[in-house]
Amino acid sequence: MQSKSEVLASCNLSQEQLDSYWMPYTANREFKKNPRMIVSAEGKYYTDAEGRQVFDGLSGLWTCGAGHSRPEITEAVSKQIAQLDYSPAFQFGHPKAFELAHRITDFMPDGMDRVFFTNSGSESVETALKVARAYWRKKGHGTKNRFIGRVKGYHGVNWGGISVGGIGPNKAMFGPALETSHIQHTMLPENLFCKGMPETGAHLITELEEMIALYDASNIAAVIVEPMAGSAGVIPPPVGYLKRLREVCTKHNILLIFDEVITGFGRMGSNTGAEEFGVTPDLMTIAKQVTNGTVPMGAMITRKDVYETFMENGGPEYALEIPHGYTYSGHPVACAAGLAALDVLENDQLVSRVKSMAPYFEESVHSLKGTQYINDIRNYGLAAGLTIEAAPGEPMLRPYQIAMKCWEKGFYVRYGGDMIQLGLPFTVEKEEIDSLINALGESIRELD
Ligand code: PMP
Repeated sequence: MQSKSEVLASCNLSQEQLDSYWMPYTANREFKKNPRMIVSAEGKYYTDAEGRQVFDGLSGLWTCGAGHSRPEITEAVSKQIAQLDYSPAFQFGHPKAFELAHRITDFMPDGMDRVFFTNSGSESVETALKVARAYWRKKGHGTKNRFIGRVKGYHGVNWGGISVGGIGPNKAMFGPALETSHIQHTMLPENLFCKGMPETGAHLITELEEMIALYDASNIAAVIVEPMAGSAGVIPPPVGYLKRLREVCTKHNILLIFDEVITGFGRMGSNTGAEEFGVTPDLMTIAKQVTNGTVPMGAMITRKDVYETFMENGGPEYALEIPHGYTYSGHPVACAAGLAALDVLENDQLVSRVKSMAPYFEESVHSLKGTQYINDIRNYGLAAGLTIEAAPGEPMLRPYQIAMKCWEKGFYVRYGGDMIQLGLPFTVEKEEIDSLINALGESIRELD
């Protein structure tokens, strides 16, 4: 591996330039001692500053399932910039936004019929939470304000998202946020090393019923969950859990939001987690894979009748039905990328490819069971999470060391908290799965 000064020299960067960028969700002090620079990407591989090929074991950040630098998307994006680089998002439209919205509704489960564009997962969550509250207000239920999330849930980094989110360190530094409640996660001890969906855990929904009894449904706007928790380390839902969640929400007139920022667009082997698990929410959030990671874009998707509630109670026709939206909502370049990315997914039948590769990946990742420090392995589709036993007094050290060893061996995997996450490209081959799992196993065995 190159030294820091060699990396900087090969990227033509100075120390001052390195210092200028406050990197997100990054240990800046460590990175700036040991910079890992990626200079290009194609297909399933990155090229680093040293010219090494590195396999992309998390598809970017769950974004680039179809592979990097797909020529179809690159071409669509370049053409769009030349033709219409920006158009005002408010009060005027451009055709591709409507075209993409409609394509997305076709891709979503039946009933998810209206699309509100954002630029990220966090903004999609923020939009869903605002729409949920505003919807109840439009319906005359002004006290339905409370949100219920889940422990270990990740819903982005904006205020709404960290309020409903259930990962302690993401909240602790920032002081009070929205008043929310959280039901338990579903990582039960009896489900350790479970392949796919655990058999036990659906009973945990009784906790939601207790919470509804405590606060009263008249004060609760929505429940938000990831159908499969991603950032907390890939936690597939127990069999029957989401169905019971849907039943409880329907019974008590509480909106159900599925945050599908990771599970949407193929990762699970179906178009969405909702489709995979046979449960349709009232609102859904997407981002990441929608443009194959090329241009920032997200969306909140909901039912026609939720949309109509705003239209019918919107005041005079020239008035805004909801004062919410982003300068870059439905950006023409993002829409062009989204349309091209959907073409790629469909033409290459990548969603069914995920389903057909998932069993091989499942066996492969679970073959690591018994390796030192691995306390749990979970998987679904082309996603997997490994829980790593903490080193004494150093809860997050080992996952970091494992990810760095993998990087040195030519494999990018994500570490966070006590987890290693894998999110394979949809085009992955069996030999690539073997090499990745071997490298990961070796990296763990090499720990002191
Ligand atoms: N929700 C979920 C389920 C996510 O996984 C993420 C990102 N990992 C987000 C929201 C936030 O997305 P973004 O980083 O694009 O704001």
